[in-house]
Formats: sequence, C-alpha cells, structure tokens
Amino acid sequence: VQGSMHGRTAIITGAGSGIGKAAAVKLARMGANVALFDLLDERTNKAEAEINALREGSARAFDVDITDPDRVEKAVLETVEIFGGVDIVFANAGINGVLAPIDEMKLEEWEKTLKVNLNGTFLTVKYALPHLKKRGQGSIIITSSVNGTRTFSNFGMSAYSTTKAGQVAFAKMAALELAKFKIRVNVICPGAIATNIDQSTKKKDNLDEITIPVEYPEGSQPLADGPGQPEEVADLVAFLASDQSRHITGAQIFIDGAESLL
Ligand code: NAD
Repeated sequence: VQGSMHGRTAIITGAGSGIGKAAAVKLARMGANVALFDLLDERTNKAEAEINALREGSARAFDVDITDPDRVEKAVLETVEIFGGVDIVFANAGINGVLAPIDEMKLEEWEKTLKVNLNGTFLTVKYALPHLKKRGQGSIIITSSVNGTRTFSNFGMSAYSTTKAGQVAFAKMAALELAKFKIRVNVICPGAIATNIDQSTKKKDNLDEITIPVEYPEGSQPLADGPGQPEEVADLVAFLASDQSRHITGAQIFIDGAESLL
C-alpha cells in the first residue's frame, strides 16, 4: 500500500490478538495513530508497547468490552481527546462462541455470540460515526468470515455463521447510508487464519452427532498448505483504510486462498 497514514487515527477492535493486532501494527508502521480496543488483557498492553517501540504511529490500549455501549462510547471519546479525531474504524473483534447442535444450544449461548459479533460491530460503528462525519470522510472495515456465506465443515456454528452473514448485510446497508458523507464501508471475509480464535471456542461434546466427515483437511486452503496469516489480512485492511481504495465501498472481499471455492 502506498502513501502515508500520518495524522490519521484508527480505532481497531480485537486489537490485542490475531488479525486486529496485525492490522494495528501495519497501520502504525504507515504512520497512523491506533486506538487498541480489547478486553483488559496483558496481550493488549503488550501490543501497545510493541507498537510504540516501533516509533512510528503511536498506540494506546483501551479496556473495552464492545458489548457495553457506555464503555464503547467513552473509549471513542477518549480516543478523540488523545488523538484529535477518528478516520478509520476496523470493527474486527469477534468470538466463535459455543459450537453445538441447534437443539442443544442454550439461548444464552446463542445470544452471547450475537452480542459480541453483531452488537459489538454495531456499537463500534455507531459511536465512531459522529467523529468520522466531522472529518468529512472515513473508512470503516468490518471483519466477517467465509462463514457468512458458506458453511463448509463448520459444524455447530449456527450462531457464528448467522452473525457473520449479518455483518455482511450491515456493511452493505452502512455503505449505502454513509456514501453521501464520503464514508466508505467494506467487509472482509477471511478463511482460516492462524490466530488465537480457537481460545474463544466452546465445543459441546455431542458435536460429533451432526458432523459429516469431509475429505479436505481442516484449515487447508488451495492456495496454501495451511491457514492464512494475520499479516496477509492486515495488508488488505491497510489498502481498504487508505486512499488507494477511495472508490471502493460496499464491497465484500474474500481473503481465503480460494477456501470459499471448495
Ligand atoms: P483472536 O481471538 O486472535 O482475536 C480476537 C480478539 O477479539 C481477542 O483479542 C479478543 O480478546 C477480542 N474480543 C473478544 N470479545 C471481545 C469483546 N467483547 N470486546 C472486545 N474485544 C473482544 O481472533 P481473530 O481470528 O484475530 O479474530 C478477529 C476476527 O476475525 C473475528 O471477527 C473473527 O470472527 C474473524 N475471523 C477469523 C478467522 C480465523 O480463522 N482466525 C476466520 C474468519 C474470520
């Protein structure tokens, strides 16, 4: 990606780990200030220290549960106080949540996944928007998944897949609504990426009952032997955040080594 991000500020949710952290590092290397929104976690503080040690864009870690509207609103305001505004929003935090057959899934389990992945995306965009509007332009990037449109081998992920499909619809509606403000909204759909997401997975024992054996090895992609890397996704995020993608909005972009073609 060409060009500098100096003077720009990005809010990144789920920035303590995986794709969010890689995107924060990438944007900071390009000169952006990055507000790292994540659950209070040593990883987020470590990401902050690592990015600040680069001596390029500066980073600040915020303890934010994205399901908590007050906390999201306050953290956005703190970001604006510290960095002077918001130009880029990467609504990325998400969990796999409980994997279970539908009739075994408890309502609370279903709702937990919806709260983090859908409410969290909505709240992040909602509270950042007034500040993007003040800038007169902006870029919002949302992390969905190949699971938003396909279900290959992902047994028990009815809640997760529902949220990932919902994020695609939300991004497209937002792109249309915000075009007149010169705010672009794009949604990325990674295939398997090597991150810590499995730590957010709770598998029910009886998942085997609904599993159909598949021949293709889990995590494999036609373009690569294994899963993609967070840094590969970060390059796409940087492009969508930059002016080089200035005519791209409402796009759903797969980054999956052709996994979704299987
Ligand atoms: P990860 O677990 O490494 O990172 C996710 C981060 O989100 C964690 O740091 C976690 O603490 C944070 N988070 C979780 N709940 C939160 C909450 N309530 N408030 C604030 N932060 C919260 O996983 P990742 O793979 O980097 O996931 C990032 C996004 O990518 C998710 O939306 C996920 O659904 C999506 N995705 C991942 C893959 C994959 O294979 N890793 C594939 C497709 C899509």
